[in-house]
Parts: sequence; structure tokens; C-alpha cells
Amino acid sequence: MMERFDCMIVGGGHGGAQAAIALRQAGFAGSIGLIGDEPVIPYDRPALSKEYLAGKKSFDRLQLRPPELWNEREVVLRLGRRVIALDSSAKVVVCDNDTAIGYGVLIWAAGGEPRPLSCPGHNLSGVHTIRNKGDCDRLLSALPTSQHIAVIGGGYIGLEAAAVLRELGKEVTLLEAQDRVLARVAAEPVSRFYEAEHRTHGVEILLGTGISELTARDGAVSGVRLQNGTAIAADQVIVGIGIMPAIGPLLAAGAEATRGETGILVDDFCRTTLPDVYCIGDCTIMRDGPGIRIESVQNANEQAQTAAKAVCGKPQPLRLVPWFWSNQYDLRLQTIGLSLGYDQTVLRGNLVDREFSLVYLKDGAVIALDCINATRDYVQGRKLVEAHAHVDPALLADDRIPLKDIAIAA
Ligand SMILES: Cc1cc2nc3c(=O)[nH]c(=O)nc-3n(C[C@H](O)[C@H](O)[C@H](O)COP(=O)(O)OP(=O)(O)OC[C@H]3O[C@@H](n4cnc5c(N)ncnc54)[C@H](O)[C@@H]3O)c2cc1C
Repeated sequence: MMERFDCMIVGGGHGGAQAAIALRQAGFAGSIGLIGDEPVIPYDRPALSKEYLAGKKSFDRLQLRPPELWNEREVVLRLGRRVIALDSSAKVVVCDNDTAIGYGVLIWAAGGEPRPLSCPGHNLSGVHTIRNKGDCDRLLSALPTSQHIAVIGGGYIGLEAAAVLRELGKEVTLLEAQDRVLARVAAEPVSRFYEAEHRTHGVEILLGTGISELTARDGAVSGVRLQNGTAIAADQVIVGIGIMPAIGPLLAAGAEATRGETGILVDDFCRTTLPDVYCIGDCTIMRDGPGIRIESVQNANEQAQTAAKAVCGKPQPLRLVPWFWSNQYDLRLQTIGLSLGYDQTVLRGNLVDREFSLVYLKDGAVIALDCINATRDYVQGRKLVEAHAHVDPALLADDRIPLKDIAIAA
């Protein structure tokens, strides 16, 4: 007889794990199955490019919940299985081991897959991504015999990996196609600050670089050739150029996605256009949101809570004020809000002291803050972002005035 779950969750990452827990917290009494293609129980993914790569945390300490909790909550884990097809009329998924599993409600939480390079040599041995534990373990096992690492992509993951690798004593060259790092997510002062920090720590950063090929020796990667002809030797190459949402079976089943299939469109309750199919985390784009994927643990967790409440008949629309963090060296970046579409920035504090915030405004209203070693601004700035506060930029720039006092005046 075909296995069936009252609620089936596809994806054992942050969103999937939180959805299972939240369902039980909201009183869901039916059976819950969680199908994940990774062979391990849900774990803290951000640590992969931070403490895990650095060897500061073992995998045991990365697990989101103790192994016994899944049994206690009666969440059936089906790990090491990939869902390859969905029939939303019959309410059945098909896995890569040819088993079919039925569901009453489906929560799709499959995250994303690293975007591959398209140049020759992109799939050579020694070319890595950092998306899951397996990726990270392969990289870690190659490190002892590797000295020079090329990192392609100056986003958060590439920069975090570069910082860890420098701390491990590796020579690191970071290649970024844009004319600055973090170009997609931060304004120029933040980008330039991080470039300077990495250079101070010995990372060679090359900006505006097009890659023409990854070169090989004895079947393994030996370096990167740039479009301007420059050759960079590398024992290992890490590619961190973004993700593609893992939504193939949902698309094939007819779920509405954005044009360009950059994400499954969901409403304020994380419902897709398929009956009884919810979607959460990195593979979603909110129908009434900013039109981009919010790739963060917070978004995955909050969407999981939202979907779980809706499944339990206690719907509450999601109202997300995004936050995010990144650790590099002794720098802790904390972001609140989304800087998308900003038309003004205000610097609070001092770049030289390595403790400052960049406040983003749009039409005079505060929409986001990037806080570097400035947790107080991050905590207090939230109210300004939530209120879309219109504040005199001169007040924001004066870091002797706590943001909470400005918030009160707003
Ligand atoms: C190295 C790294 C560092 C990061 N750092 C930060 C950070 O500092 N702060 C932050 O907020 N966010 C960070 N993120 C992003 C954050 O981890 C993601 O936004 C979050 O994990 C998204 O949760 P999710 O449940 O949507 O996807 P995931 O956590 O990726 O989980 C999806 C799971 O589904 C599995 N899966 C995919 N397809 C299928 C299928 N067809 N069948 C079964 N299983 C499937 C995947 O293998 C995966 O296990 C980082 C991400 C990475 C990779």
C-alpha cells in the first residue's frame, strides 16, 4: 500500500524543519512526513560557510533539533530521497527511488541549488559550491593538500568562505564580475569597506572580472583564466554566484511562478496556485512582496510558521521585516529591512573604528540598515524600518543620538 501523510513536507532544511515543528505547536494532530534529499537530519545551513568550514563546530552542534525530537513529535523523516514529480490532483509525489507517497497537504520547502558557472571546465573535479554539508565536507577534505583557493563571486557566501580560508592560512583570490563586492545587496560604502577588510587580511580581490574558462591539469581544476587573458593558479575553486530555486516538480505540476521562473508565487499565507500546496523559504516569491526571493533563515522560519498556521485553520498573513547576518573575521554584519530601491544613504559612525551603520532611505523614509559591529543600531533601528519613519538625515548621521530616541521622535 502507498505510504501517505496528512501533511507532507518536501525539503529538510530550515523551512521544512520549522514547518514540522510549527505544525505540532499549532495543534496539528495528523501524520507528518518530511522528505529530504540530504542524508542527514536538519541542520544550521549558514554555519557551513562560517564555523563548520573553520572547523570550530562539529556537525553534532549544527543540528537544528536533537535527533530524538523528530520521533517525539511524530515527524517521520524520509531522508536521502528526492522528490522528482508531483501530481496535485491525485495528491501524490514520486521520489527518485521510484516510490510514490500520498499527501493531504503539501508544504514545499526545497530551497535552492547553486547556480553553476557556464564556462568550459565548470564541472571539473576541485570545483566546489557551498550549499549543503556534503559540499562542505568535500571542500574540507581537499583543503589539507591545497594552498591556493580561487573564490568566484563576492556575495556573502564567497566573502565568508574567503575569510575562513584566510584564517586557515590559505592564499585566496576572490573574483567578482561586478565592479564591487556585495553589489546586489549593499550600497557602495559597505562594499568598499569589506573589500578593504579582505585586502588587509591578505585576500587578493579582482573586480569586474569575466571568466573565460577553468583550466585543468590531470583531470582536476588547476586555475581560472579570465576574459582579459590573466591566468590564476588555484588548487580548488569555490563558486558562489547565487542559487536557482528548486521548484522543477512544482512548475511541471502547473504552480504559478514569476516570469523567468525565479520563484513560486505565494500569497500572504504561503499558498501556491495548486490546491493544498504551500511553498516556503528560498524557492518562493511573495505575490504582494518586493518581487525577489528573500534568501534567509528568518524568512524560511517565518514562512514555515505562516504555512503551518494556515494548514491548521488559524491563518495569519505574513508581515515580514527581513533581517540577516554575516560573519567575516571579527566583523558582524546585521541587516534589518530591505535596501532595494533606496535613493539615499546615511553613514552613522566611523568606518575607521570598524563600527558603523549605513541607513538606507527611500523617498525620505528609512527602509533598511546595514550595521557592522553595531548591534545597538540594529536592534533600535528596527522600529524606524517598521514605521517607515521619515527622519532628518542629520539626526541619523549623529551616532551620539541613539536610534531609539530618534524612533520616539519620528
Ligand atoms: C553557506 C550558506 C551560508 C548562509 N548564511 C546565511 C546567514 O548568515 N544568514 C541567513 O539568514 N541565511 C544564510 N543563508 C541562507 C539560508 O541558509 C537559507 O535562506 C535557508 O536555508 C533557506 O531555507 P529553505 O528551507 O528554503 O532551504 P534549505 O535550508 O536550503 O533546505 C532545502 C532542503 O531541501 C532539499 N531538497 C531540494 N530539492 C529537494 C527535492 N526535490 N526533494 C527532497 N529534498 C529536496 C535540499 O537538499 C535541502 O536540504 C546561507 C546559506 C548558505 C548555503
